[in-house]
Amino acid sequence: MKAGARAVQDLIFPHHDWDAGSRAASPGLSPQGWGKVAFLEAPVCDGCGLPFEYDMGPGVRCAACEARPKAFSRARAACFYDDASRDLILQFKHADRIDLARLFSLWLSRAAADLIAEADAVICVPMHPLRLIRRRYNQAAEIARPLARRAGIAYWPGALVRRRAGQSQAGKSGAGRRRNVAGAYVCPTRWSRRLAGKRILLIDDVLTTGATAEACAKALLKAGAKSVDLAVIARVRESGGASI
Ligand SMILES: [Zn+2]
Repeated sequence: MKAGARAVQDLIFPHHDWDAGSRAASPGLSPQGWGKVAFLEAPVCDGCGLPFEYDMGPGVRCAACEARPKAFSRARAACFYDDASRDLILQFKHADRIDLARLFSLWLSRAAADLIAEADAVICVPMHPLRLIRRRYNQAAEIARPLARRAGIAYWPGALVRRRAGQSQAGKSGAGRRRNVAGAYVCPTRWSRRLAGKRILLIDDVLTTGATAEACAKALLKAGAKSVDLAVIARVRESGGASI
């Protein structure tokens, strides 16, 4: 392997162990940990990132996406949301493991490479200002920023805002999640000119029912964006979505 390729490999699959008891200086996984994370590779559903057993050609969608197209055009996830990835993501969200952001952004750069190549700007799912004060950082923003920088694409954190605090999506049904986020996201009018006709890549941490991503996509499309694609760290295994 060439030195450059090896360096990239080391970044995506670091040698340091995050799950070996003590905290590592740099985020990573032990070989056992890596073996458990279910990374998603092509072929996947173009609409929701669900892996297919067979390659049926580009742009093919699963039955759920065919039956009910989502407000976002396409989605990619780096891995399944399961026992192995849940621990990592919850540490990242709730335990100040902000150091994992770089690792996750590298996962997304790889999993969503085709969407990144066509994107004009990267936007993260925003957090309500009050929640941001409590949590101190928005995990989606921490992934989106380095991803955009690496790809050389504009990063527009202010283009989408959460105007209503609402409740956590955790534990809610699909309909409950949609109600909870309906109208919660909006694009400030001063962004309309810049958003007009642009292909946006939206970043979030976990894709469950897609309610949050759809609410964000609707706001961006309403503000004039040409299309909205979605890239997440992890997605649930069920194509129709499930509560977590
Ligand atoms: Zn699908």
